[in-house]
Amino acid sequence: MEPKEVINGLNGKHEECVTLELESDDNINAAIMSLSLVGKIISERSIKFSTLCAILNRAWPIKGDFESHDLGKNFVLFVFNSEKEKQEVLLQGPWSIQDKHTVLRDWPKEATLEEIDFSLSEFWVQIYNLPLAMINEKNAAKIGSIFPKYIKSNINEGEQVKWDGFLKIKVAMRVDDPLKTGFNLKREESDLSMVYFKYERMPEFCYSCGRLGHPAKECGYKDEKKMNKNSYGPWLRAPSSKKSITSHVMHRRVQAAGDPENSVKASRRRVKNSNIEDRKTGLAAVINEDAEQNVSEQAANKVNTSFCYGEMCT
Ligand SMILES: [Zn+2]
Repeated sequence: MEPKEVINGLNGKHEECVTLELESDDNINAAIMSLSLVGKIISERSIKFSTLCAILNRAWPIKGDFESHDLGKNFVLFVFNSEKEKQEVLLQGPWSIQDKHTVLRDWPKEATLEEIDFSLSEFWVQIYNLPLAMINEKNAAKIGSIFPKYIKSNINEGEQVKWDGFLKIKVAMRVDDPLKTGFNLKREESDLSMVYFKYERMPEFCYSCGRLGHPAKECGYKDEKKMNKNSYGPWLRAPSSKKSITSHVMHRRVQAAGDPENSVKASRRRVKNSNIEDRKTGLAAVINEDAEQNVSEQAANKVNTSFCYGEMCT
């Protein structure tokens, strides 16, 4: 930036803007960077600060106290007693407060609050309706490329395929964008098939436009409502526990390949755990968006007394 910048003053005259060099406390800087997190609650409604503190005091997996400072407009600064506690909170996220997604970020040196990027947040996405032989790391990364950032999958190192048929990927997605619901899978010998996503610990989102932070009845994207009819709904929320989608058809295919004895034993274990209901994925049913969302929210509030979707709460 130029040392002197001309700006338009309140009186309409052009004035010179002075440049100042201010003191910065190194100790405070170090404490902010190592011990603090700044949070943004993704909601068009304000969350009461005292309520937020009470919820997180119960929910976060740390023994000691932590400081909370209200920065206004759903921004909060948290200061922890140790770096370990801060990392523990990050590790066990994502977190929601009163069903509102909360993005946690480090506060970079010399950055202003407005300069901190809260646009991306990490979620685990479960992926359904994939042919078994396609459930590998290469394809996990390819599916992850649909999102702004692919982080990792649940496929272990050296694992050629996810034999239990359950693929999930951790991705960073834009919190302002509509949720991605899936993709069309091109196959060599069959028609296109639909692969669909379910999001783990998904907080409040709009069943009309698919964005976080507001319910359908408060949606400001009415133009998209017709276009997106039945695209979004409670079926995009993933079950909280791992479920296998192994079927008896897959069982037979497994027996036909690889080490017969090991394959049969492994397949028996998998089939024992399989559940045909898991493949019923909540495919778009015709629903009344507002009514459905209200019922879901009421049910969630009844069950989820701590209003927290962190790891400790599932
Ligand atoms: Zn909306």
